Amino acid sequence: AVALMALSGCSSRAPETAGDGSAAVGFPADSVIGVALPSKTSENWVLAGGLFEDGLKEAGFKGDVQYAGASTTVKDQQDQMSAMVTNGAKVIIVGAQDGGQLGTQVKDAHDAGAIVIAYDRLILNTDDVDYYVAYDNFKVGELQGQALLDGLAAKKPEGPYNIELFSGNSADANAPVFFNGAMSVLQPKIDDGTLVVASGQTDIKQTATADWKPENAQSRMDSLLTSTYGSQEVDGVLSPNDTLARAIITSVKAAGKSIPVVTGQDSEVESVKSIMAGEQYSTINKDTRVLVKQAIDMVKMLQTGGTPVTNDDTYDNGNKIVPAFLLPPVIVTKDNAAEAYANDPKLSPLTK
Ligand code: BGC
Repeated sequence: AVALMALSGCSSRAPETAGDGSAAVGFPADSVIGVALPSKTSENWVLAGGLFEDGLKEAGFKGDVQYAGASTTVKDQQDQMSAMVTNGAKVIIVGAQDGGQLGTQVKDAHDAGAIVIAYDRLILNTDDVDYYVAYDNFKVGELQGQALLDGLAAKKPEGPYNIELFSGNSADANAPVFFNGAMSVLQPKIDDGTLVVASGQTDIKQTATADWKPENAQSRMDSLLTSTYGSQEVDGVLSPNDTLARAIITSVKAAGKSIPVVTGQDSEVESVKSIMAGEQYSTINKDTRVLVKQAIDMVKMLQTGGTPVTNDDTYDNGNKIVPAFLLPPVIVTKDNAAEAYANDPKLSPLTK
């Protein structure tokens, strides 16, 4: 256990010791570990699947990694989780397709003795989720809000600036957290007149992007440009992620307008290129390799009978505070991209 703790680089409660002095085992070292991921709405999810496959295998577990499909997403994920329980998974790691619709599946998992870890997205309104591992989502929003202000100030020295707001899929528990984080920075500037949401659409319901689909963001941006920006410019757009940022930029270009300051998230390849080319303004670096490793470290600790380390007790899922391990997100613009991606072999060459 000491070696494991040293490897994972964090202090965890040591496993209970059995009567004979040997460490009590949480579950067999070659157990099935289920990983139920949502549909591939952004690059981070595509990366996570492969990293879980490789990482769980390397750790000696039998990984069972599944994605919700493209259409019947919620049911896909529910069925996949049920199958994992039937197959005797000892831990089920879940990137929820719909955070509010997995109550039955996580209860079944618990009843079968499995441990449930929410990965990246929280699972809501249930007691049957044990841990949460994610980047600090509220911080992501704050960084996006601050980047929007910085980008606007760099573009023209004084406001008022016309902006529009976009948020993510309402079934994703992260969407309101990102949005609230951003609004904690932007609302005071809206209140003092520095920022003007010219469409008047400031409510999360009005700004939501169904299923995180770029075509939905693009058509909403098309409508906003037609309804509100016939004769005026849009200076900035709060976009919750890179996929949507590029869709918004596509819409603005098609309308023949100059590109506003647009935020993002995920450090997707196409967005890093766009940032380096001076189009998209910012993204967020949430290295998927680090998040997957953290989740697998939790599984290793559970396997030995120990308790995974957590560092946050603020994520209330509606039923309980879910002990969380949060990692720090990093804001990236053209200015710090080379530094931010220095140890990422895929992104680093794009910044040269
Ligand atoms: C993730 C984001 C991602 C979004 C869409 C969110 O839950 O935290 O990184 O952009 O899902 O896939």
